[in-house]
Amino acid sequence: MSNPIIEREQLYCAHNYSPLPVVLVRAQGVYVWDDAGKRYIDMMSAYSAVNHGHCHPKLIRALQEQASQLNIVSRAFYTDKLGVFLERICKLTGFDKALPMNTGVEAVETAIKAARKWAYLVKDVPQYQAEIIVCQGNFHGRTITAISMSTEPQYRDKFGPYTPGFKIIPYGDVNQLEQAITPHTAAFLVEPVQGEGGIQVPASGYLKACEEICRKHQLLLICDEIQTGLGRTGKLLACEHEDVHPDGIVLGKALGGGLLPISVFLSRREIMDVFMPGDHGSTFGGNPLASAVGAMAIAVLLDENLITNAAEMGNYFQRKLREIQSPLIKEVRGKGLLIGLEIDKKYSARTICLKLLEHGILTKETHHTVIRLAPPLIITKEQIDETIDSLQGVLGEM
Ligand SMILES: *Cc1c(COP(=O)(O)O)cnc(C)c1O
Repeated sequence: MSNPIIEREQLYCAHNYSPLPVVLVRAQGVYVWDDAGKRYIDMMSAYSAVNHGHCHPKLIRALQEQASQLNIVSRAFYTDKLGVFLERICKLTGFDKALPMNTGVEAVETAIKAARKWAYLVKDVPQYQAEIIVCQGNFHGRTITAISMSTEPQYRDKFGPYTPGFKIIPYGDVNQLEQAITPHTAAFLVEPVQGEGGIQVPASGYLKACEEICRKHQLLLICDEIQTGLGRTGKLLACEHEDVHPDGIVLGKALGGGLLPISVFLSRREIMDVFMPGDHGSTFGGNPLASAVGAMAIAVLLDENLITNAAEMGNYFQRKLREIQSPLIKEVRGKGLLIGLEIDKKYSARTICLKLLEHGILTKETHHTVIRLAPPLIITKEQIDETIDSLQGVLGEM
């Protein structure tokens, strides 16, 4: 079973992941192909970075056209693309201003900086006493500050000392939020659905209640929509399921159209205006290549009704999954096309993922017992049926 391609990657690459033994060489839409020409349905979508499907022709064209014009110039100058992109994302989401970054965690760090500075300038919190409340089981990225908020031992072990200033409360518990608030609290940072935490969907009404508490106590509600945003849960933003209007949100992943790392922190003017020239920045953030791709990613999301398709196909997929009779499945949960299959602890989710791979389904377990089913938002009923058939085959074999 030794594959020289895998061996080379293992030899030279840090072992900070444990990939499934498949070598991908090509992709189109919801499909990817391995080096032997075998086709798979992508149920990972690169953790929701590929909502538009692989190699979307309009996105490829936007990338190629901009690549031959102007790419990286830094924010030391204006370009003809950044304003267009940010106007589009602001108008779409209803926020006043955006700060462009690259990876998701950079935009999370930006949100934290904004919340802290806002606390000192606007809320008069004593210097460097600002607190940010976060939830158990969160995933906000992998920088030292992001792991400082994490409750996942593996993300934290031997990486301390950690960034102070965070308070961790149980996810889904409104009373604990209210109790954790002090006059020094700057913000509550929360995922509308915890993705990496195992596709955890809080009880309905949770986010709305959090919003009311944040208003009452004058702290910022910041939603990390890096994974849940841009149609994944069947709405543009997962917050919309409860008509929640956060003070700020973080977007990433699918914002890059499956081509580039593009992220933004979006907020009301009053919050973004705490940033002064030189306070914060990124060499690549907001570059014209990323701006052209990001603007097209938003256009395609709307033009091709991907959000509606995510809602409809999400319902269909979840219904089909719930119909499966298998002692291995403990629970099916999710919103839209962000779906988790909780597997009985007696079985290994990774073993199931390996078997699914043989059956032409590409996915990966999270938290040892959860199988993610989060295909590109362009998926069709037929492709979902095909996935259900493969899944039933695998569960039968076990
Ligand atoms: C993936 C993810 C991040 C981190 O994004 P990166 O681009 O990997 O830095 C942060 N928050 C959430 C909710 C995510 O799903």
